[in-house]
Amino acid sequence: MSAVGILLCAGSSNRMGFDKLNTPLFGKTAIERSMEALLAGGCDSLVFVVSGASEQTVASLSVPVPFSVVPGGKERSDSVRNGLNAASGEVAVIHDAARCFVSPAVVKASIESAEKSGSGVAAIPMTDTVVRLLDGTVETLDRNTLFRMQTPQAFRLSEIRAAYETGGAATDDATLYAKAFGVPNLIPGSENNRKLTTATDWAWAVERLCPSVYGIGFDTHRLVEGRELILGGVKIPFEKGLLGHSDADVLLHAIMDAILGALKLGDIGKLFPDTDERYRGISSRKLLREVNALVQKRGMYVSHIDATVICERPKLAPHREAIERTIAADLMISPDDVSVKATTTEGMNDEGRGLCISAQAIASLAHK
Ligand code: MG
Repeated sequence: MSAVGILLCAGSSNRMGFDKLNTPLFGKTAIERSMEALLAGGCDSLVFVVSGASEQTVASLSVPVPFSVVPGGKERSDSVRNGLNAASGEVAVIHDAARCFVSPAVVKASIESAEKSGSGVAAIPMTDTVVRLLDGTVETLDRNTLFRMQTPQAFRLSEIRAAYETGGAATDDATLYAKAFGVPNLIPGSENNRKLTTATDWAWAVERLCPSVYGIGFDTHRLVEGRELILGGVKIPFEKGLLGHSDADVLLHAIMDAILGALKLGDIGKLFPDTDERYRGISSRKLLREVNALVQKRGMYVSHIDATVICERPKLAPHREAIERTIAADLMISPDDVSVKATTTEGMNDEGRGLCISAQAIASLAHK
């Protein structure tokens, strides 16, 4: 059977504050993502129902199947009606473009159900308790009879068209279908098939698509006599040490700045100002653990660190493993996820002349 996807791209974005359908999310708009899912799920033609900016978005798509573009109406049901009138095929798959994370499997299941029984509507059984507050009374509804309706909602084209001709307005297609033809067949929807409605939904989508964020850090400290040399939390035997308000652990400072950069929280100078007596002589390991607590508070973890120490002397190779283990312990991750390298500058620059040691680092953070 042929299946036509009716993609509703005409919704207003009042609740989001910006245009959720036409703003690219990691390179693709919600409209494009929804189109791809409909095609992968088995639609062999499409009708785009557009208004405003979505008209340009649709015009910019390369659509590999026959398609048409029709204007949206005042209400959702007007838009669907316009789409159905422009459609041809045996099964119509009506889908809100704002549900752009629908899986092709759900689309396929809805089409197969419509082919078999006339309808296939994605829905999720209610697991929360739902109450109705009315005139000071609380009525607990039987959740076994409650469902959250999603799209796709697939029907025989001729039937859903007839339902729309006689049914009036509704916020979903299943309601109109039920009036004309009885209860539709429900197929399992998915929590990932979430409608991008609020800023929280958008943040969820960003996390889903971008599991990692990255930050970069750099630091330099002067090498002086009369100080201990601490690098990556490890005491290194050497005739000089680094000068600073804290223990001047240049490597941990670069790593902390990288992590704070990934969190967009500024740098360690902002968090632990060197005018604050509390931080005089403090172990930078303690500060690193505090920074890691901020990562955890965001629901994230440091997934990888890569760092380079730039110094002429001493040789760091004998201490590398101990440094990586120490950093990993403070970040509560595996030493396999911490990489520390060292380089000289071949006698050039202030590092090469032994005046200072510098360090640079990149931190990757992932959502738990
Ligand atoms: Mg520093």
